[in-house]
Amino acid sequence: MINHRNHPRAGRYAPSPTGQLHLGNLRTALVAWLDARSASAPFHLRFEDLDAATVKPEHYVSQADDLRALGLDWDTEPLNQSDRIEIYYDAIADLRAAGQLYPCYCSRREIREAAQAPNGPLSPLDYPGTCRTLSPAERQEREDQGRPPAWRLLVPEGGTRRFTDEVVGEHEGPIDDVVVQRNDGAPAYNLVVVIDDEAQGVGHVIRADDLVTSTPRQIYIAELLGIEPFSYGHVPLVLGPEGKRLAKRDGSVTLPDRLENGETADEVRSFLAASLGLCGVDDRPTVDELVEAYAGPHTLPTDPLTLDAAFLGET
Ligand code: GLU
Repeated sequence: MINHRNHPRAGRYAPSPTGQLHLGNLRTALVAWLDARSASAPFHLRFEDLDAATVKPEHYVSQADDLRALGLDWDTEPLNQSDRIEIYYDAIADLRAAGQLYPCYCSRREIREAAQAPNGPLSPLDYPGTCRTLSPAERQEREDQGRPPAWRLLVPEGGTRRFTDEVVGEHEGPIDDVVVQRNDGAPAYNLVVVIDDEAQGVGHVIRADDLVTSTPRQIYIAELLGIEPFSYGHVPLVLGPEGKRLAKRDGSVTLPDRLENGETADEVRSFLAASLGLCGVDDRPTVDELVEAYAGPHTLPTDPLTLDAAFLGET
């Protein structure tokens, strides 16, 4: 096992190439890059492209181009998860052989309905455990109906993990019976993210804070795979005028939108940096100056950034 403390561990940005990056994505990428570069650590770009139904080929290029235009760089060819399927299947086979997984035949609807039942779990995200205790005959019955199973982790009931997030502080959350292979056969995010962060030598996982609740699950998966824990910093989201996460319909939210409005890429980067407290609103720092100014994830704002309608312009 690698001792993370003795190596300059890498940073990474891991977008899904399903659309253009918006200002929230770009802001998170900037933090991830600054966090690595300020520690003279390698930085990697990884495309999380296992969901073939949502991936759009043009966005591998658009996302890399936008990051480059902001002055970010990376040290290796971007890694595509779709090229690494066999590695994930090997890990799933190992977990299965170790008795850590069980097949789950539930549809989304069944899980939703079980969650709404009077004695159902508190959160609709929690899996009610329906398939955990199926007898071999009950499993066979479902197999005979032609239902392809997802594979879930058999997690000790009531399991939680606690960690100290480098931005938002202490966080504790449930691990529950997380899916590691979806019922369409695709290896699931929570498993592959851990495998790839380890494979890419990542130390600090810097990403948007909508993933904070996934982190206890990923910590547990790392334990099962014998991977030393990563440290985590979750960057607050950027919200649109209605207080919901930024979306295309909010207006000029992408770099090309901003350029079309007459801004330069340096101005966009400076705006994002100012929102992170790394420079004044009228400053135009270079990327090297930003690397100097960045003093660690604990110095970042902990509240979301809300953009107003005037800033976002006409839709
Ligand atoms: N692919 C995920 C996203 O685009 C990020 C995953 C991660 O950084 O762990 O939201």
